[in-house]
Amino acid sequence: MDKHVVVIGSGLGGLTCGYILAKNGYRVSVLEKNAQLGGCLQNFVRHGVKFETGMHYIGSMEEGQTLHRFFRYLSLLPHVKLRALDRMAYDVISIAGERFSFANGEENFVETLAQRFPSERSNLQRYFQLINGVAASSPLYSLQYSSAIALLNPAHIKRSASEFIESVTANKLLQQALAGNLPLYAGVKDKTPLYIHALITNFYNASTYRIAGGSDVIAHALVRSIRAMGGCARANAQVTGIKCDDSKAVSVVLKDGEEITGDYFISNMHPLRTLELLDTHLIRKSYRQRIAGLQNTVSNFTVYIHFKKNSLPYFNSNLYHYNEPNVWEGGGYAQDKWPGSFLYMHLCSSVDQQHADAAILMTYMNFADVAKWEGTRIGQRGEDYEALKRKKAELMLNELEKQMPGTRANIERYYTSTPLTYRDYTGTEKGSMYGILRDCTEPVQSMVSQRTKISNLLQTGQNINSHGILGVIIGAIITSGELLGVNNILKQINDA
Ligand SMILES: Cc1cc2nc3c(=O)[nH]c(=O)nc-3n(C[C@H](O)[C@H](O)[C@H](O)COP(=O)(O)OP(=O)(O)OC[C@H]3O[C@@H](n4cnc5c(N)ncnc54)[C@H](O)[C@@H]3O)c2cc1C
Repeated sequence: MDKHVVVIGSGLGGLTCGYILAKNGYRVSVLEKNAQLGGCLQNFVRHGVKFETGMHYIGSMEEGQTLHRFFRYLSLLPHVKLRALDRMAYDVISIAGERFSFANGEENFVETLAQRFPSERSNLQRYFQLINGVAASSPLYSLQYSSAIALLNPAHIKRSASEFIESVTANKLLQQALAGNLPLYAGVKDKTPLYIHALITNFYNASTYRIAGGSDVIAHALVRSIRAMGGCARANAQVTGIKCDDSKAVSVVLKDGEEITGDYFISNMHPLRTLELLDTHLIRKSYRQRIAGLQNTVSNFTVYIHFKKNSLPYFNSNLYHYNEPNVWEGGGYAQDKWPGSFLYMHLCSSVDQQHADAAILMTYMNFADVAKWEGTRIGQRGEDYEALKRKKAELMLNELEKQMPGTRANIERYYTSTPLTYRDYTGTEKGSMYGILRDCTEPVQSMVSQRTKISNLLQTGQNINSHGILGVIIGAIITSGELLGVNNILKQINDA
């Protein structure tokens, strides 16, 4: 075959498309603007300690479970070493002084919560079964063939996660607890569709793991496979333009002027970044306006904590904390109450880890809070920006100390990131964590298609289909399916 596919961006979406297409005989070139390949999969090392930036835990990784089957197909299993999170409390939801644990499996999940909410046992069972039903009815999620490629049941797209939870139980505290890990999808009340909550809940409930040694092993393994199949993956290769003739895309231009021609082009960038590179009549003004008008998920402020050696026992759960019972608050926080919530998790450097080397302490932050430095670049934002970051980090660490007493004394040093960091590293709009917000009240408008008006220019990544390790891999199958047929790829996965 030897058709050349140029992939712009080496995030999980770009690399997965690169892998699938190289495996199927396409000549693949993945071009990445950063020095490190992987996008959100990239890690950084400071003072010998490694930090993940955008992939902290994964689910459904037991033999036969969905992600395990995708990983087998993508030749990732030999490279990814896993450490299971506490099966009885993989996520701990802390709301205004009370803690609730999510346990793996239906029985454990229901029983653990029913101990605190005994009169809600049957509602919890119903909740769990409905969630599983949503996952089972998504053909790609359950790796079933589909002639119509009806990827999701419209009823699950048009219904909000918050309304669904309220319909299952009238208990206000349980409603909050069930939605408590929503920073995983930056959920917005009355907007985030049911399918997002359901697929993510089901995905992590099946089994829950940290990646020992860091999530960048996924990017490294995919890059090695693409190269072994004759493709290339280049760092420091920023695409600054996509050239088109009268009917299609013909080449990309890199920052240094190099031009690379291709038969097909796949953009792994945020759709707004893709549009900025296209100066062609083939893209209509109405499409540009629609994409520009879409709301993006909120960004975050993160403290990357380096602990003193062998001082703090490894915490094998993720802690989602809220000062008040308002888990849906998201980016709507009041400045004087920030941070009203946080997510805290230890990073896993080896499968038998006893003490924590590092942790992530994350909360929501709107781009507006750092908009003053919008025109600056990483490392050159000035002392007032550094002072703001120190102040915010101290506020966060104070909150952490209240919930995990004794932690501060074990901190050796810490680093921080803001919405500007994510904007500049991955090109995501205003540092948005998960890209374009899916809105059940505008289901069609808030979905971005893998197709563009340029027939040989496709899109992939978290803005297409859904975010997260599973959402992006499924999105890459949908995108690659434009060239290979989705059912062909599914057959390969099922045969792997
Ligand atoms: C803080 C945070 C925590 C998360 N935690 C988890 C988690 O625990 N589990 C989970 O499953 N998911 C998690 N996610 C979500 C997950 O990381 C993302 O959905 C996924 O990795 C996004 O992949 P992507 O392919 O869409 O794009 P990205 O990873 O954003 O990659 C896009 C790439 O395109 C490159 N690029 C942009 N412009 C250009 C250009 N002009 N030329 C060349 N290259 C360009 C960028 O540099 C980048 O490498 C998290 C995300 C964030 C932000």
